[in-house]
Amino acid sequence: HAETDPYAQVEERDYEAALRPKTLAEFDGQPRVREQLALVLDAARHRGTTPDHVLLSGPPGLGKTTLAMIIAEEMGVGLRISSGPAIQHAGDLAAILSGLDEGEVLFLDEIHRLSRPAEEMLYLAMEDFRVDVIVGKGPGATAIPIELPPFTLVGATTRAGMLPGPLRDRFGFTAQLDFYDPADLSGIVANSAGKLGVSIHPDATDEIARRSRGTPRIANRLLRRVRDFAQVKGHPQAHRAVARAALELYEVDERGLDRLDRAVLGALCNLFDGGPVGLSTLALSVGEEIETVSEVAEPFLIREGLLVRTPRGRVATRAGYAHMGLRPPAQNPA
Ligand code: ADP
Repeated sequence: HAETDPYAQVEERDYEAALRPKTLAEFDGQPRVREQLALVLDAARHRGTTPDHVLLSGPPGLGKTTLAMIIAEEMGVGLRISSGPAIQHAGDLAAILSGLDEGEVLFLDEIHRLSRPAEEMLYLAMEDFRVDVIVGKGPGATAIPIELPPFTLVGATTRAGMLPGPLRDRFGFTAQLDFYDPADLSGIVANSAGKLGVSIHPDATDEIARRSRGTPRIANRLLRRVRDFAQVKGHPQAHRAVARAALELYEVDERGLDRLDRAVLGALCNLFDGGPVGLSTLALSVGEEIETVSEVAEPFLIREGLLVRTPRGRVATRAGYAHMGLRPPAQNPA
């Protein structure tokens, strides 16, 4: 599985780096976010200041890291990358912040997972470009203020709702990235194929786009699998049948559900009579982390109308049953 195999991760990272759009103009889809962000950057350029802090939220693989890189590129400044879980202590954050050069972009992925003390340090840094480093312990402890150069924080989170209000309020611009529609994904796949020198028929591009869970990262990943398949089976051009065969081999179904999506929906229908069932019980039954189920599988299943979140738990819809080839129970609440 790509997320857990370290070799696959390295391969994926190199491949993603090669395919990442470098400018806002090259960034496909999300027209509203693109337009709003262009305005934020233009305004900063006119004033000769650093752009406001930017919060990007949305499921994995929709382009948050890519946008952070684009912001730095468009502003002609350096980019530093870290993440909430990588910052254990406030001191780690102080070191990162005080090492920034003037105007640089600091990208903090999974910002909702910062520790409390680091988060509080960030408030001051975002607002006043200053950190207070505490030296000593107990009554003798003193706060030594350190001035920071102006910088732009780009925070990313899978769900803006998970951020504490005071942190959210300190971002001048907040953008919610949505799943991409198939036409945008087709464009992304076609571009990626061009960059990789892969010959692919538009039918196959559409097939990949339709099965990519609205997610560019997955579209690029599936393109790679289709390319492998076409190469090994000796097809000079990947056409629709090749794409279908490759995607079937990798257990990506007609609608783009992957193994995890199907496991979650299958458990809900088969083990819990369609629900309602609590998130942690559902995650346990498929052997996955709670966050993986709620941030990766669920948003897509919900968007597809296959599952709903209710106050009493997760419920499979009639469409969800139908997609799994099952009959809903007579009293199915959804
Ligand atoms: P996130 O940080 O949201 O998890 P990334 O920015 O790492 O997602 O994007 C994952 C991959 O998808 C990257 O390789 C990038 O090239 C591609 N990608 C994301 N958004 C777009 C887009 N709008 N246009 C083209 N490629 C994109």
